[in-house]
Amino acid sequence: MNEKLMKGNKEFIDTINSNKEFKDLNESLIANGQHPYALVITCSDSRVIPELIFNKTLGEIFVIRTAGNVINDGELGTIEYAIEHLKIKEIIVLAHTYCGAVHAAVHKESGKYINKILDKIKTNIGSETDEVKASILNANKVKDYILKQFPGFDGKVISAIYDLKTNIVKKV
Ligand SMILES: [Zn+2]
Repeated sequence: MNEKLMKGNKEFIDTINSNKEFKDLNESLIANGQHPYALVITCSDSRVIPELIFNKTLGEIFVIRTAGNVINDGELGTIEYAIEHLKIKEIIVLAHTYCGAVHAAVHKESGKYINKILDKIKTNIGSETDEVKASILNANKVKDYILKQFPGFDGKVISAIYDLKTNIVKKV
């Protein structure tokens, strides 16, 4: 494994060991199980980290990250788990500005497996070429798709966009 990652894990352990509150939280989440109150579905982009963006810690957010925050079968299973087993009542589909997946869809790029993602984004955005508007449209359509797949869900599904420049999350 990359040295940076191994060193980072050591530092993380040191941090935990010197932080009683975090250590206690970790132990309590193991003993009592996780009860996250929100599911965030966002992009795999390395600049879009839900726990950082929302300033949250262990046990608070259940997360799905896929390029372009699209939903395929595996993601549907994860959402089902979040709803049925974790009893999560709020799902946030979080798009972001400067999204490489949306950029690729707007520019009609393709690839063997990436088409599973790009085809969905292309359908979701239609002929929109403005990438921010396309990202918003994509998030709106992913939200609609979740509502359609889980008609019995009694919580909220929200679409939002995170602006890389201002770090602001806005409902869309
Ligand atoms: Zn992205």
